[in-house]
Amino acid sequence: MRVGVLALQGDVREHTATLRALGAEPVAVRRAEHLEDLSGVILPGGESTAIAHLLATSGLREPLAKEIESGLPVFGTCAGLILLSRQVLDGRADQWSYAALDVAVRRNGYGRQVASFETTLDVEGLGEVPGVFIRAPKIESWGESVDVLATHDHGDGDFPVLVRQGSVWGCAFHPELTSDTRVHELFVTSLADR
Ligand code: GLN
Repeated sequence: MRVGVLALQGDVREHTATLRALGAEPVAVRRAEHLEDLSGVILPGGESTAIAHLLATSGLREPLAKEIESGLPVFGTCAGLILLSRQVLDGRADQWSYAALDVAVRRNGYGRQVASFETTLDVEGLGEVPGVFIRAPKIESWGESVDVLATHDHGDGDFPVLVRQGSVWGCAFHPELTSDTRVHELFVTSLADR
């Protein structure tokens, strides 16, 4: 199964390795033609402003929007989640997003002092999964059609950290930075079910 990894900036290599470990065929997506014949695509963590800029300059912004609209499954991790969100709080004034996921995220929403941390998450259907958060966005509000698969309480109540709205998935943490491949497996398995 061919699964794209948006390869403009961010932790592309780690997602690629995880997909390979799961027996999927990773495809580096740098140009519009790389979107052909994919079963799904991952938008990696990195810097959402940089990735958004490169999406525009590479000519990928619109073709990827069309693919997402027509139902190509997509999984955004960290900066990738920001790119998929309906609303970006504390973004740059000119920051755009695909608005494919009915959530409002706050960039660096887990605070500056605790900008990076590791914790154990309880993921629906998986149980305990390591959660690596690096200047993570916080999902501050979400619509009814968004399934919350994991939450985290950082001292101010439970907020979603892994969500799914149909074919659009997002997580605030970095499943690609641990040896635990089960979060990717959830996404990849959903592609096989289509
Ligand atoms: N804070 C970053 C951003 O706004 C996201 C961090 C990450 O992807 N690790 O893009």
